Amino acid sequence: AFEGLADRLQATLQKIKGKGKVTEADVKEMMREVRMALLEADVNFRVVKSFVNTVKERAIGQEVLDSLTPGQQVIKVVREELANLMGGESAKLEMSKKPPTVIMMVGLQGAGKTTTTGKLANHLRKKQNKTPLLAAGDVYRPAAIDQLETLGREINIPVFSKGTEANPVDIAKEAVAKAKEDHNDVVFIDTAGRLHIDEGLMDELKQIKEATQPDEILLVVDAMTGQDAVNVAESFNEQLGLTGVVLTKLDGDTRGGAALSIRSVTQTPIKYVGTGEKLDAIESFHPDRMASRILGMGDVLSLIEKAQTNVDEKKAKELEDKFRSMSFTFDDFLEQLGQVKQMGPLDELLGMLPGANKMKGMKNLEVDDKQLVFVEAIIQSMTKKERETPEILNASRKKRIAKGSGTSVQKVNQLLKQFSEMKKMMKQMTNMQKGGGKKKGGA
Ligand code: GDP
Ligand code: MG
Repeated sequence: AFEGLADRLQATLQKIKGKGKVTEADVKEMMREVRMALLEADVNFRVVKSFVNTVKERAIGQEVLDSLTPGQQVIKVVREELANLMGGESAKLEMSKKPPTVIMMVGLQGAGKTTTTGKLANHLRKKQNKTPLLAAGDVYRPAAIDQLETLGREINIPVFSKGTEANPVDIAKEAVAKAKEDHNDVVFIDTAGRLHIDEGLMDELKQIKEATQPDEILLVVDAMTGQDAVNVAESFNEQLGLTGVVLTKLDGDTRGGAALSIRSVTQTPIKYVGTGEKLDAIESFHPDRMASRILGMGDVLSLIEKAQTNVDEKKAKELEDKFRSMSFTFDDFLEQLGQVKQMGPLDELLGMLPGANKMKGMKNLEVDDKQLVFVEAIIQSMTKKERETPEILNASRKKRIAKGSGTSVQKVNQLLKQFSEMKKMMKQMTNMQKGGGKKKGGA
């Protein structure tokens, strides 16, 4: 997702990045391009307007002018404001002090409510040791109850259902009572959707809300629908008062408009994103990390989190420390490639690495296994010392490595260049996180 927007923003910011002096005209020129990029990514025009104004104001203010590296300072402003646009801080699910916590799932048909119900229940059990109960509240689509029951069996989480003849409000109420009885600490109420928002649907949802007093009302929307998703969020919020949004299908070819607009338009935070059909394809939403990802600064933290769920935790922690201390060597890189391979879709993971967009652009670390074989071969042909301090690689060493790996000196040079680029980006990112990254989100 977001490739088009990411490419355009990065190209635009690249022009200002190294500038030792930034004029008002530079900023205006840059913001014209940023504005176009956002509009083309289908971001709501009011959101674009206010974003552009805020960035402009900050970028021609003292904060930037007084800085020693104004070009980079401007980029930092863009990054912070992008994060603010998406809510600044990440928002968690509200858990009731008096269990069970009731979570009502709402949204249009096909948005991903039922799937997300399963994903979230599974996620809460794994990460927070919760014992959820799922309630089958969609009595209109004949297969809907079966779908939830199948999901429940797959993840071994109980499902409360009363068939298609029962009233959804009763189902919801009884499910909450059953959860109390059985000591389930979270109840998910899966509800019916419609193709369009209609009064019948809203009335039923309001009654369920009234009857169960949910702690969370999560709207599930399909990111692929762009501004429609924002409109849907606006009307559900007006009618029901949402506590959060789950944006699904972010694995698809979405331009980013919904992710960037929903929070500003509805004042409702995106709490999770769905990134695939599988039951583990759900992630907490972190505005700051998403902003970094869009700007090509990589998303080391998400990568590490992913590593932590898929790979040995101790190794992941070591990796994190290395990222932070910048003592990342070719050996780490090699080990990481091995782990990356176990973790699944390579482009998704490499996309989280700092500088990865550039690598893709430079073509030689292309995200296919064949290329990775070369990379591995090159690194394996280095001595231990060379892997730790690649600075010592002179022409004759490079020739030896090229020969040993069955590649060419040119390929070796490309890898070295990428590696140092990657380290540079990591350093930049760590600096940014130390700097203004902790700012509280406004909006
Ligand atoms: P509901 O009608 O809102 O309950 O939607 P469903 O949960 O039945 O999902 C509709 C379709 O969207 C199913 O085929 C799901 O597998 C698919 N889906 C849901 N979430 C995602 C996601 O994050 N990514 C992808 N690619 N597909 C998803
Ligand atoms: Mg459903």
